[in-house]
Amino acid sequence: MATTQVPGNGKQSGTTPPPSAQREQLASHDPATGEVVGTVPVMTADDVDAAVARARTAAATWSAMSYGEREAELARFRAGLAEACDDLAEVIARENGKPRVDAMTEVYMALSHLSHAARRAEKALKSHRVSPGLLANYRATISYHPLGVVGVIGPWNYPIFTPMGSIAYALAAGNTVVFKPSELTPLTGVKIAEIAARTLSIPDVFQVVTGAGATGAALARAAVDKIAFTGSAGTGKKVMQAAAERLTPVLMELGGKDPMIVTDDADVDKAAEAAVFGALTNSGQACISVERVYVHEAVYDRFVAKVVDEVRAVKVGGDDGNIGAMTSPAQVDIVRDHLTDAVARGAKVLAGGPDAISGNFIQPTVLVDVTADMKVMKDETFGPVIPIVKVASTEDAVRAANETTFGLGSSVFAGKKAKDIADRIRAGMTAVNSVMAFSAITSLPFGGVGESGFGRIHGDEGIREFTRTKATAEESFALPVNLLSFKLPKGTYERIRGLIKQLYGDGAVARAQDFLRRVF
Ligand code: NDP
Repeated sequence: MATTQVPGNGKQSGTTPPPSAQREQLASHDPATGEVVGTVPVMTADDVDAAVARARTAAATWSAMSYGEREAELARFRAGLAEACDDLAEVIARENGKPRVDAMTEVYMALSHLSHAARRAEKALKSHRVSPGLLANYRATISYHPLGVVGVIGPWNYPIFTPMGSIAYALAAGNTVVFKPSELTPLTGVKIAEIAARTLSIPDVFQVVTGAGATGAALARAAVDKIAFTGSAGTGKKVMQAAAERLTPVLMELGGKDPMIVTDDADVDKAAEAAVFGALTNSGQACISVERVYVHEAVYDRFVAKVVDEVRAVKVGGDDGNIGAMTSPAQVDIVRDHLTDAVARGAKVLAGGPDAISGNFIQPTVLVDVTADMKVMKDETFGPVIPIVKVASTEDAVRAANETTFGLGSSVFAGKKAKDIADRIRAGMTAVNSVMAFSAITSLPFGGVGESGFGRIHGDEGIREFTRTKATAEESFALPVNLLSFKLPKGTYERIRGLIKQLYGDGAVARAQDFLRRVF
């Protein structure tokens, strides 16, 4: 495939400014072959500020549109992306290293979120009245308003699906977006921006700024109204520090160390198949991939045997491969380090292992006899690795699953008690008798706790995340006594005192509260 030189064209909305002779270029590589797929300009802090200023201008028109008008605009954007799905899948597969079928699935999932957010925004952001309590002469209303300009910083593992989880919801809520893609997958970001520029009637509603970490840092410092960051916890902390300079609010979608629990009454074959897919899809480079498996001793042997069987059938690389190349040598080094550490501390390799790494390709690895102190059980591995632990009870499994600083996704394979167990896992999301399904259900909120971050994308919560909530108290009729005044009648102290006793003291409290609740 020919390499792509991204053309600069400052006049066209959504694309990068013209690369000057001095402008540094960034190359995107195919991790399977090392070939250069294309180059993009490295954008400076001035470029980022200029993009944000253009986005600010665009926001005035975009935010003033009706929901119906924005939905129609986003439908054209969606259709443009859909028409270009082959090109998108090609560029994603080449930059990221994943099989083309996975890239196409990712495009589908991104479009499903764009579609959902656009259709759902009006309902999710509908103003609504709430009880005014004792201020019965007031109309109390909650309404939601666009923030303005949202900066989105995305990772390389799902170059369209992951950022679209923020982009779609921010746009649908009436904001404009400046997107900084990972330096490993910039061409995907540029392609999305080109399509936005072609399909949206207002220039600069969606722009991309390309470059490495410094460009992301410039966006975090820029005059945006929110930063939606997806990436590692380490970089997330830097982004928060930079955003703190302007008190810019941040949404943090960070890493995970997702546990899977398999109980003694689980469908073992189904659980094993899910563990293999959940841990290996995208070569394990998914924030919600299965990273730790806790299996009840009663079904442990059967589960392990089935997992090893399934793993042996997984094909790595090639056109018909189930998983492709790891996206970067740096990520290969992390996985090698985790595997080497595990083996040195006594883990047993049942498939793959540290010696089964060749260039950017890692053979799926199954580890048993792993312990909580190993890196592979503590830190995010982000590779095709399945560490399995035998546990004596469901209690032990839940305890071990929660012994982590992360809390993104999780999964439970069990009989009748599955949902109860799921509720006890400290994580943003749990799939019950399944893996990862929550990320594909557009109306479910997505996000983590602890070192997995905070804030939510997807669903109604994801739309509201990109708004400011406004509380309005509107007097609907005047009372003879105005309590919000210094001109209080004599005896007000006693009356308020009486009210306190009646409402919140002992005795007639329950009756008084019931009465007030019924009235208001
Ligand atoms: P990084 O944290 O390395 O990078 C994320 C983004 O931040 C990239 O665009 C990167 O640019 C940019 N960046 C780097 N330095 C800075 C800086 N100082 N200021 C601002 N931006 C900066 O993460 P990865 O790209 O390696 O992504 C993998 C991580 O993302 C994993 O931990 C994974 O779990 C997490 N993730 C979380 C998801 C979630 O929804 N919770 C979903 C998907 C991934 P550049 O690449 O150019 O350096």
